[in-house]
Amino acid sequence: MTETGQRKEIRAATRMKNLLTEYYKELDGAHAHGQKVAWCSSVGPAEVLRAFGFKVYFPENHAAMIGVQRASERYIPVANAAGYSPEICSYLTSDVGAYIQGWTPLEKAYGVKEIPKPDVLAYNTNQCRDVKEWFSYYSREFNAPLVGIDSPKYLDDVEDVYVDNVVAQFERLIRQLEGITGEKRDEATLRETVRLSLEATKLWKEILETAENVPSPLTFFDGTVHMAPIVLLRGDQRAVDYYEMLRGEMLERIKTGTAAVDGEVHRLYWEGMPIWGKLRAISEQFSELRSCVVASTYCNSWVFDDLKENDPVRSMALAYTELFINRSEPAKERYIVDMVRKFKIDGIIFHDSKTCPHNSNARYGMPSRIKEKYGIPSLIINADLNDLRLYSEEQTKTNIEAFVEQLEGGVVA
Ligand code: SF4
Repeated sequence: MTETGQRKEIRAATRMKNLLTEYYKELDGAHAHGQKVAWCSSVGPAEVLRAFGFKVYFPENHAAMIGVQRASERYIPVANAAGYSPEICSYLTSDVGAYIQGWTPLEKAYGVKEIPKPDVLAYNTNQCRDVKEWFSYYSREFNAPLVGIDSPKYLDDVEDVYVDNVVAQFERLIRQLEGITGEKRDEATLRETVRLSLEATKLWKEILETAENVPSPLTFFDGTVHMAPIVLLRGDQRAVDYYEMLRGEMLERIKTGTAAVDGEVHRLYWEGMPIWGKLRAISEQFSELRSCVVASTYCNSWVFDDLKENDPVRSMALAYTELFINRSEPAKERYIVDMVRKFKIDGIIFHDSKTCPHNSNARYGMPSRIKEKYGIPSLIINADLNDLRLYSEEQTKTNIEAFVEQLEGGVVA
């Protein structure tokens, strides 16, 4: 047992820290060992890059670490002065500002002094336009080629016409990488990489689904930490090994009746981006209120069920086009309601993240529609993923407290 409010440590976290240190050290030493480095957006074509032998670096993880280390407020103004608006993605502005100032959170976290220089940058706009603009900046800065996929957006059903388009773009991207590396595509390696990605993603899904258990063995806040390998190492055996270990620990928690939140009374859903600099504080407040945030859209965004090793390109095109962030309001609403039922949720927290409209779903009436149609209550938190100047600690605390109190009284408006 822990004191109320304290997060329960997951044993596998030690392995993960070592794994991430290994991952960042490999990137740091890549050029010295004659290896190439590709930068990739978080739901970008990682499998293709790995199959071409690139070490793959994800700027979004780097930017989230700036948020976790609460350094964004130092660097966002630097990017603003360089012409990047305070209104756009605070991952982009934190990251570009830190780069201009020659600072990286990797040093404190992993003893790595600088970000790896790219030999190529590959994006997919399935999540937003900002990743393309962000990578364009670094493409100019490092004089490295920029390649990518411009995804069809806001889809209701993911019809063949869209997938065909993305398949053609994947094929073009592969030809571009052949030109850049001087190497022919290796179909067997691509299939194997997709197979490993699928294996890791299935395990990750199983882990997230352990939270269907009452009480839940893990929280959304745990998920934001333990999702790192599925983002950074999908297509790599080490992600599979790690998630086998983590799944074992979650199943053991279920068997022994170990709850992530002692005395779990309320089960909540987190919709939207994490507030990286405040994860611990918010998580502890929910625990004190005996409320477990059991599931989220965010952590589930790296579940790619439709990958197929025997049809790698088309299955990647489908998996990376059908993801939640790329869908219409009705498709998103259906997804959230399904998740609420599956995880036996009492209420939803919508994080309206000021600089990420793409991953903020409280702006077009969704919370009221879900309340009206399904009777599911929600709370909207106005904040930001990285920019803590847009976050009011007191107001958020009070609102969460009031929301949980109302859930207790069954009188949420
Ligand atoms: S989805 Fe949001 S947080 Fe992620 S890169 Fe795009 S704007 Fe930034």
